[in-house]
Amino acid sequence: MTWLRQRLDELIKNAAYIGTPGRGILAADESTGTIGKRLSSINVENVESNRRALRELLFCTPGALQCLSGVILFEETLYQKSSSGKPFVEILKEGGVLPGIKVDKGTVELAGTNGETTTQGLDGLAARCQQYYAAGARFAKWRAVLKIGPTEPSPLSILENANGLARYAIICQENGLVPIVEPEILVDGSHSIEVCAAATERVLAAVYKSLNDHHVLLEGTLLKPNMVTPGSDAPKVAPEVIAEHTIRALQRTVPAAVPAIVFLSGGQSEEEATLNLNAMNKLKTNKPWNLSFSFGRALQQSTLKTWAGKEENIPAAQKAFLARCKANSEATLGTYKGDAPVGEGASESLHVKDYKY
Ligand code: 13P
Repeated sequence: MTWLRQRLDELIKNAAYIGTPGRGILAADESTGTIGKRLSSINVENVESNRRALRELLFCTPGALQCLSGVILFEETLYQKSSSGKPFVEILKEGGVLPGIKVDKGTVELAGTNGETTTQGLDGLAARCQQYYAAGARFAKWRAVLKIGPTEPSPLSILENANGLARYAIICQENGLVPIVEPEILVDGSHSIEVCAAATERVLAAVYKSLNDHHVLLEGTLLKPNMVTPGSDAPKVAPEVIAEHTIRALQRTVPAAVPAIVFLSGGQSEEEATLNLNAMNKLKTNKPWNLSFSFGRALQQSTLKTWAGKEENIPAAQKAFLARCKANSEATLGTYKGDAPVGEGASESLHVKDYKY
């Protein structure tokens, strides 16, 4: 059984590495449709060469990889090369960053619910994980989506999404990939922070019950939750309030065996997401896991706007990206002073109703 021990040790080692204090994850795994929306916001055509150019800008920003421990890729990017012909996977590995891969195939409506969803992609997942591992991926992401409403998240959607996450997680582990378990509760709505806290606790409790039932090795996983916040149509609260509610929900539901919790940004502005993460890391309370970031929109927005698809803007865009990487790296240590240079749109809300990744 030494091969099994080695497999388990590798998962544990990689999960712990991703959770290294001072580092976090760049989620650059937008599907072709989603990246198209980003590119069209800066009037850039959604073709392979432009998608590649954006990813090269990000991965080749001098100094940025030192703030990162993982980058989540879409399948196309896993096999792409930089303009000088070097595979992106090699660039990341040389920079001390583990390549990750989005393995879900998006959401579909869950019949019998009021617009709730389940995530697709379990068919053939083991074979895909094997291919991705061979291509250099060492961790994976699967996004389950829940929403808050008068009777939502419903018991059915909680059960179904928890079960899907657990099936995905054990298939990843059997094939050498650390699963990021992502049950995202959307921010859409006018609910209070207390309602979000209660929903988050119910969802996470169900997720860990399922992971346990499916024999998932928690030390070889990462959790990617929403922060506990008021709904997008409710008045905002201070980062300290978000920190307190989020940490309490996590203390009540996430086992200490999980090495790190890497938050999604979920439509918060770049600066908001950083300040909230920083407040959590400043909070003096019982926190057995590392608390870091796995931001998509909140790491890329000002960079995208500054770039605008123009070659001559690349140095300025890379400066904007490095500023966000450094700010979030500091936030993982609770030392961010709120003094990052303000990039274009850094304080802009990135919320999109019913967001599809
Ligand atoms: P946001 O940080 O843009 O919410 O996305 C992170 C992600 O990877 C969602 O699956």
